[in-house]
Amino acid sequence: MRLESEILTLTTKHPFVIARGGSSEYRTVWVRLIDDDGVEGWGEAAPSKFYGETADTVMAALETYRTALPDDPFDLEGAERTWLQLMGRNGSARAALSSALHDLMAKRLGVPLYQVWGLNPAEAPLSTYTIGMDTVERIRQKVAEAEQYPVLKVKLGSDRDREILETIRGVTDKEIRVDANCAWTVKQAVAMLPVLEEFDITVLEQPLAPDDIDGLAQLTAVSTIPIIADESCVTSHDIPRLVGAVDGINIKLAKCGGLREALRMIAIARAHHMMVMVGCMVESSLAITAAAHFTPLVDIVDLDGAALLASDPFRGATIDDGRVELPSAPGLGVSRA
Ligand code: MG
Repeated sequence: MRLESEILTLTTKHPFVIARGGSSEYRTVWVRLIDDDGVEGWGEAAPSKFYGETADTVMAALETYRTALPDDPFDLEGAERTWLQLMGRNGSARAALSSALHDLMAKRLGVPLYQVWGLNPAEAPLSTYTIGMDTVERIRQKVAEAEQYPVLKVKLGSDRDREILETIRGVTDKEIRVDANCAWTVKQAVAMLPVLEEFDITVLEQPLAPDDIDGLAQLTAVSTIPIIADESCVTSHDIPRLVGAVDGINIKLAKCGGLREALRMIAIARAHHMMVMVGCMVESSLAITAAAHFTPLVDIVDLDGAALLASDPFRGATIDDGRVELPSAPGLGVSRA
C-alpha cells in the first residue's frame, strides 16, 4: 500500500468567525491510500490550530505514519492503534488516514461504508447550518441565504451576544442552537441562560473553557437547555470526567483521530445516557462524507463545513434542506467535483 497527499486551499463564501477569531481561507490535506491492485481510499485532514495542527504539521505527521501503513485494509482497529502509538495528537492527520482506509476497505467489499456498519441512512437527524459572527446586516443576509436549512447554529461569545440573537430571532422562527466556543465564564453563562431561553435556544455547545468541568457541572445543574461538550471532549478518554457535568458530547473526526475512535465515543456516551452530536471543521465534502456515514447513530448533526465553502473540490454526502443524503457508491462514495 502507498500513501499520497496534497494540500488543498478552501475558501468560504463569507469570512467564518467564531469566538476565538476567523478566516476565509482554510488549508486541508487530501490523503490517498492506494493498494497493490490500484484501488484508492480517500480521506481529508482538516487541521485546527486550537488542537495544535496546521496543513504543514499534517504533511509532516504523514511522513511518520507512512512508515506504518497496514498490509491488510480490513485491519482498521490495528491500523488506528498503530498510528496512535507511533505518534499521538495529530488527530486530523490520523483521521484522514482512517477515513482513507475505511474507504478502501468498503470499496474492496463493493458496498457503501454505512452498510458495512449496518446503518440505515434514513435515520440520520437533520443537519444544522452555522451562522458565524458578523455585523447585524450580514447576519441577516446569512440567515436569508440559509433559507433551505431548517435548523440554525449560531456562534456566540462576544459582547454582542444578545444583539446577534435578537437579529436572528427577528427574521426567523427556525430552531436555533448556540455554540459559545469556550468564551464565557460560569457567571456569564448563568446570566446568559435566561437570554437563551427567551430566544428559544434548544442546545448550548461548549459555554466554558475546556478544562472547567466543575463549571460545566454547575451550569448543567441549573440549565433547562441541554449542554454539549465540544472542546472539552477530544477523544473517548475525555468522556468519563464529563459524565454528569454535561448532557452530551460533540464528536469530530479531526479531534478524535479516526472512525473507529468515533464509534467508540458513541458507545461510551450511550452507556452513560449522554446525547451524541457529530460536528465538523471548515472542510470539503470529502471529510464531511466520512463523518456523515455514522450520522444514523447520533442525535445532533452539524455537518455544514462544505456548505460554507465558495466551491467544493469533492462531491459526496450533501445536506440539502438539512437532510443528510449519503452517496450509495462503494466506500465513502466521494468523487472529484
Ligand atoms: Mg463547537
